[in-house]
Amino acid sequence: MKRYRQAKWDEPLLLEYPDRSPTPYAGSDEFLEVSRRKPISDKIKRLNPPSIPGVTEIELVRHYTRLSHMSYGVDQGPVPLGSCTMKYNPRIALKYSFSTSIIELHPLMPENRVQGLLEILYELQSWLAEITGMDKCILHPAAGAHGELAGVLTIREYHRLKNQLSTKTEIIVPDSAHGTNPSSAAMAGFRVVEIPTGEDGNVDLGALEAAVSKATAGLMITNPSTLGLFEENILDIARMIHGVDGLLYYDGANLNGIMGYARPGDMGFDIAHINIHKTFSSPHGGGGPGAGPICIKNRPVGDTGLMLSDLVPGAEIVLDEDSGLYRLRPTGKSGVKRLRAFWFNTIPLVWGYIYILSMGAEGLRKATELAVAKTNYFIRKISEVKEYTLPYAPRRPRKHEAVISAKPLKEETGVTAEDVAKGLLDRGFYAPTIYFPLIVEEALMIEFTETEPLENIDAYVQALREIAVIARQDPSEPKEWPRNTSVRRVDQVYANHPKTMAPTWRYYLRHVKED
Ligand SMILES: *Cc1c(COP(=O)(O)O)cnc(C)c1O
Repeated sequence: MKRYRQAKWDEPLLLEYPDRSPTPYAGSDEFLEVSRRKPISDKIKRLNPPSIPGVTEIELVRHYTRLSHMSYGVDQGPVPLGSCTMKYNPRIALKYSFSTSIIELHPLMPENRVQGLLEILYELQSWLAEITGMDKCILHPAAGAHGELAGVLTIREYHRLKNQLSTKTEIIVPDSAHGTNPSSAAMAGFRVVEIPTGEDGNVDLGALEAAVSKATAGLMITNPSTLGLFEENILDIARMIHGVDGLLYYDGANLNGIMGYARPGDMGFDIAHINIHKTFSSPHGGGGPGAGPICIKNRPVGDTGLMLSDLVPGAEIVLDEDSGLYRLRPTGKSGVKRLRAFWFNTIPLVWGYIYILSMGAEGLRKATELAVAKTNYFIRKISEVKEYTLPYAPRRPRKHEAVISAKPLKEETGVTAEDVAKGLLDRGFYAPTIYFPLIVEEALMIEFTETEPLENIDAYVQALREIAVIARQDPSEPKEWPRNTSVRRVDQVYANHPKTMAPTWRYYLRHVKED
């Protein structure tokens, strides 16, 4: 097994570097010919200039390079962070989505100057509609959760226009759902009704039947579920929800488990989001940037003359047949018009376009096939290590991910899923998602994705095995992990505690830092 040691620098913040400006290096005033020739008028200068660090270019480059040494990413090793679909980010997509012809476009440029970009986005819309089996896609939302909000606001507007919002007060969500589903529903003003998962890993149909009523505005579900299991009763579920004029929302974060094989549009879904930064490989982590297009199966909205897609906040790109020009056509014709300042998060969208273009339909199917095969290879291997179990229908094959439980290990040794995750960090792996989904005790949620070589999956299983052996020999040792990372075990509460949470540096200086 490879040995792993992460770099550890005592790296100050840029603001804490000594102020060296002006400097004789490129990037300093001497090189900014234009600004010297045309000084900024005092009239428009800020009264209090922002405190910008006075570092030199070489210091800046070294600063970020050192930080990258103290970090870990998918370019260094496996990131089997369940539910997040941390694919390799192909360099061909990097090359073209960050080309100057894309990144130098200004969001306020007129349509006739950005026809090339609009054509790319137009094609992407239609490909995503094909992949999801929906009628049209709107690329506006900036992330999956943002797409969810767009979706539930659409559901809300649908019921409002049909004069039934006063009765349609509930959104049904299975207990295996990602936390964003109930929070999106609640943000849109709905009451969230939670449905349990049966032992077979499907939604408990009896409980669902009991919960569905005139009050049901819709249901949000991901398929395959966060357990990696395909919802076998999805057609029955769709019938039940549509039976009370509810709408079905597809959380598309797990599309990588079925892409090219099954489509939400064929399962009865009305609205779906896609995480471009998961399924279509644009880089993510640390909060973005992402893109969460919304796809719609169209239907008339009562007798308003509007279609469901007209209610989605944002804009779509249409091809004007007469002029042959692509045009932006705002949607959100009723209800919320837009969810962000500009229409699209362009770079991740272009990235997704290039990914799809370079993979082709066969390539996308193959990606799904490999992602699923690798998950099942993993669960077969890990089934030999008895300190971990596979709750919920252990005999059913998984799709893109699997959730194992470290409960036997904890009961025997006191070593928890968290300790196991820290042990994986020490062995050069990114930790899995832990304690999620909430319905699995001591959950370790693992998703390798199609690009991970089998040797690394073997090494990962070997690491889990080794951790269990150490836990039995000396249960106090895992509590000391991680030892080999730049930062040792962090205080999980500190960053989230109202007294110590510091969303900005200024906030930290004012409210948190103790001198
Ligand atoms: C990632 C994820 C989301 C939220 O998507 P973001 O792009 O992170 O906002 C929703 N549901 C599931 C199952 C997810 O894995």
